[in-house]
Amino acid sequence: MIITILSHKGGAGKTVTAIHLAAYLGKQSPTLLVDSDPNGSALRWAARAEKELPFKTFSQEGLAGYFMKGGTPPTHMVLDTEARPTLDQLRSHASQSDFLLIPTTPSILSSDTLPLLLQDIGKLASQGDRICPFAFLLTIVPPRPSKAGEEAQAFLKERGLPILNQRIRRYNAFEIAALKGCPVYDVKGDENAGIAWSDYTQAFKEMEEMING
Ligand code: ADP
Repeated sequence: MIITILSHKGGAGKTVTAIHLAAYLGKQSPTLLVDSDPNGSALRWAARAEKELPFKTFSQEGLAGYFMKGGTPPTHMVLDTEARPTLDQLRSHASQSDFLLIPTTPSILSSDTLPLLLQDIGKLASQGDRICPFAFLLTIVPPRPSKAGEEAQAFLKERGLPILNQRIRRYNAFEIAALKGCPVYDVKGDENAGIAWSDYTQAFKEMEEMING
């Protein structure tokens, strides 16, 4: 299965989502994380890891080398992509993936980039291009009493857009995980690390249910 993490805006939690999805899938079956974001943040994250991660990480060139050397095809591939894909990049992701997961922060309410992404998806559909199933995932959601998460979710639902019910809340544990190069479940001494991981596992279970129909 190829799952592509796509975002219409930088800083939406794309890399954090890609790392945690690769960890979630990698705990079940062989998984590769391919970083095709020119920023290379997923590659840098993995390079900081002190403990072996449950997935292998490659750049696009590295992936080609892996297969040329006879590397075993994985069960799952997670693609971390460039922010704000062009129409051609979107066409390629939407046609080659099994699912597109679109992390987005609650600032989507005032976003001027979401309409552009939706416009591009509409353009591809009208041209008869294949568009694989997709869903939005709300990330970096501020804690209560803020209602930003609920409001953003309602905003997307009202527009008939697919959105996972589980939101990823804002936890400092994710920043620590990024610094240490580990998934959040390996962050020690932060009482919210477990809850932070369960936000992602619940969201990914929901996504799997969507994919499996
Ligand atoms: P992108 O890849 O879309 O640019 P990142 O995944 O790098 O976004 O996330 C942007 C910043 O937000 C990073 O500093 C990251 O550690 C932080 N971040 C992402 N998700 C969360 C979260 N749920 N809680 C707290 N910080 C987060």
